[in-house]
Amino acid sequence: MAKAFDVIIVGARCAGSTTAMLLSRRGYRVLTVDRASFPSDTVSTHILHPLAVGALARWGLLDRVVATGCPPIHTYTFDFGPFTIAGAPGTEQNPLAYCPRRTILDKLLVDAAAESGADIRQGFTVEEIIIEGGRVVGIKGRSKHGGSVTELADVVVGADGRHSMVSEAVRAEQYREKPPLLAGYYSYWSGLPMDGRFDAYMRERRAFAAVPTNDDLTLVIAGWPYAEFAENRKDIEGHYLKAIELAPAFAERVRSARRVAPFAGTAVPNYFRKPYGPGWALVGDAGYNKDFITAQGILDAFRDAELCAKAIDESLSGARSFDDAMAEYQLTRDARGGAMYDFTCELATLEPPPPELMQLLQAMPGNQAAMDGFARLNAGTISPAEFFAPEATEAIFAAAAARSDRVAAAARSARSRN
Ligand SMILES: Cc1cc2nc3c(=O)[nH]c(=O)nc-3n(C[C@H](O)[C@H](O)[C@H](O)COP(=O)(O)OP(=O)(O)OC[C@H]3O[C@@H](n4cnc5c(N)ncnc54)[C@H](O)[C@@H]3O)c2cc1C
Repeated sequence: MAKAFDVIIVGARCAGSTTAMLLSRRGYRVLTVDRASFPSDTVSTHILHPLAVGALARWGLLDRVVATGCPPIHTYTFDFGPFTIAGAPGTEQNPLAYCPRRTILDKLLVDAAAESGADIRQGFTVEEIIIEGGRVVGIKGRSKHGGSVTELADVVVGADGRHSMVSEAVRAEQYREKPPLLAGYYSYWSGLPMDGRFDAYMRERRAFAAVPTNDDLTLVIAGWPYAEFAENRKDIEGHYLKAIELAPAFAERVRSARRVAPFAGTAVPNYFRKPYGPGWALVGDAGYNKDFITAQGILDAFRDAELCAKAIDESLSGARSFDDAMAEYQLTRDARGGAMYDFTCELATLEPPPPELMQLLQAMPGNQAAMDGFARLNAGTISPAEFFAPEATEAIFAAAAARSDRVAAAARSARSRN
């Protein structure tokens, strides 16, 4: 059977459609299949941090998100109870975050892939990954009302999420695994205006956050440690509202708002998977997943799509061997994601910050540059290595000491005047 495609991609959301779009734009024959039909929702909140917004701008798709009326977000706040850190999450070039509904974002990405020339088959379930002589050569599957279909390609990309059939078929090596750490549930509220802010609240063994999305709605997510996952499932609404009560002013606002959707939520494992082998590659959650507390998944999927599409292009064009190009993809992905992975897993335990970190956090209010840095850290705009570099943290402590010296001097001079 002749190969009708250079690349087949299983999964057509953030990772799959973008990989398809980028490869089609480079002139490759790409087939993308998904069992879902778009627009389609999925269990995921949908904060697009500024660097993800920057990717959409680079690809010429940001205007489409903005045109949906999704409000821009210019400030992230982190309320620790006794103090709050509020900063700008982006850069001069990409200052804003957005939080478009997945029904909107994923459809927009599928359409962009199709416009770029990819063949998109929606409502198509892959039932088998075809492996010949140890090499992946194609897929077998069917659409809702059709018979079994076989398609062959040089490379099959698994963009099929956490339960990736591609990664399972090739037994992709998994490393740096950690079990689920956090359970989170979310819903949408009307009458809860956010004025361009993403607000997060950290309390003992609880975290919750609010962020504005399409249709004048606000997404509110609340989480608790995974140890409570099974027990709290018996009363999700009760535990969700009880968590929010830990911030009385916010709880008051939620009480005067109206919930307009059922709760959705889950808990996820944390892992890296080797993202390539003979005839196959993985992008997005299929290849790398971490807890959603830092909301990095879509940004990571966009970054993977660019790195993986470049590697496939280099290999198919003959510029480099598949293994060389893909090894660089894996190395870059792991290097860029590694420190954020550890930071995220630590946050997701919902344990109180260790004393040194608490001192650093307490030194930030009043220091806008430091607070912007913290917002950027949580947005994935800068890496934990950059934020926690000794010279950076020393500067934060020095500025706090100078501020308290100034306050003490002002108090002394006020006393001497009286
Ligand atoms: C509760 C929660 C909140 C989150 N919040 C955020 C957030 O605010 N911001 C953020 O950036 N990230 C967030 N994430 C992470 C984000 O959802 C994922 O990282 C992102 O969806 C990964 O995209 P993907 O394309 O790799 O996979 P997915 O979105 O999982 O898409 C995989 C696709 O593959 C298809 N598929 C699978 N198997 C087959 C098959 N056999 N045949 C055909 N099709 C198949 C599925 O139908 C699906 O459409 C959150 C995740 C969770 C669980």
